[in-house]
Amino acid sequence: MSAADRTVRALVATGPGEQPSVVEIRQPPPGPGEVRLRIRVAGVCHSDLSMIDGTVAAPFPLVLGHEAAGEVVEVGDGVDTVAPGDHAVLVWAPPCRRCWFCAHEEPWLCERNGAPPAPRGSTLDGRPVYPTLGVGALADEVVVPREAIVPVPPVLPLEQAALLGCAVLTGFGAVGRTARVAAGASVAVIGLGGVGLSVVAAARAAGAGTVIAADLSPAKEDLARAMGADHFVVSDTALHRGVRSLTEGRGVDHAFECVGRSATITAAWRCTRRGGQVTVVGMGAADDMVQLSALDIFHSGRTLRAASFSGTDPFVEIPRLADAVVGGSLDLTPLITHRTGLAGAADAFARMRRGEGARSIVVFD
Ligand SMILES: [Zn+2]
Ligand SMILES: [Zn+2]
Repeated sequence: MSAADRTVRALVATGPGEQPSVVEIRQPPPGPGEVRLRIRVAGVCHSDLSMIDGTVAAPFPLVLGHEAAGEVVEVGDGVDTVAPGDHAVLVWAPPCRRCWFCAHEEPWLCERNGAPPAPRGSTLDGRPVYPTLGVGALADEVVVPREAIVPVPPVLPLEQAALLGCAVLTGFGAVGRTARVAAGASVAVIGLGGVGLSVVAAARAAGAGTVIAADLSPAKEDLARAMGADHFVVSDTALHRGVRSLTEGRGVDHAFECVGRSATITAAWRCTRRGGQVTVVGMGAADDMVQLSALDIFHSGRTLRAASFSGTDPFVEIPRLADAVVGGSLDLTPLITHRTGLAGAADAFARMRRGEGARSIVVFD
């Protein structure tokens, strides 16, 4: 530990299946090319829950949180993209701008994504801690590379800014960039967490003709309609029949799977018309296998693809979405169903596990 290290509060998980808790950790100062950001608002996202529960492997102790906005408080040598006082959104898959994929205009597939996690900072007794997805935003402050910082206008409300970092970026990237939903298209969205509801909003914004939202919980219907859905269907084993009955028996042009499970990927496939497109947005487990028959793949003529890492360039999409919010054409406030302080963040994960509400946000003092 150096004299310049700072002590901050953070929500830390100590192992898979362990209840996370707020503890103090040590953070180093920003080095060359790095930025220290004071977190003002952080969203509670499902990917973190997958790591807490052990569905997705993660290193521990893990500083949770990867969807946030805040204020720059210090920059390291060589940083001229932001200055102290600027508002910014954190990006959890910052493109390197140098690899083959970045050079070929697919920065969301950057070779740096999926790199082994690196520790940053330590517990007070000196053990290294790992920031979730390189961010670790459920903390008073973070220190990240400048590539992970997207400046946003100060008039953009920080509560909505935070959501642009993961759920909304992912939803709009999947609809606008990966699937390229055209005006008039029919769309089904399966799984109505923060990402799924963002897909609903993005489909509406893209001019979709019919938007059908589906979730296990009937309580999600009002949220889905608030975000722009025309219809709501309970996501049970007959989901495809419900969706087909709303599309003259054919199925939708586009189905978006926002859960990350083989069962819902298969359901999305069956909800889609011949020649339609299935876009997988949810991140699932390594051993959860999807089965499709060879004949069905041929006969249905469907396309199955994934909106990996939002399928978009966050440095293009986040400013565009920020402008839409500031200009009044995009309102993300219906997504926010719970607000809490850092001490209530662990309860927010428990609520998510029960499938309640949409986004819980943590508002820092
Ligand atoms: Zn997320
Ligand atoms: Zn790259």
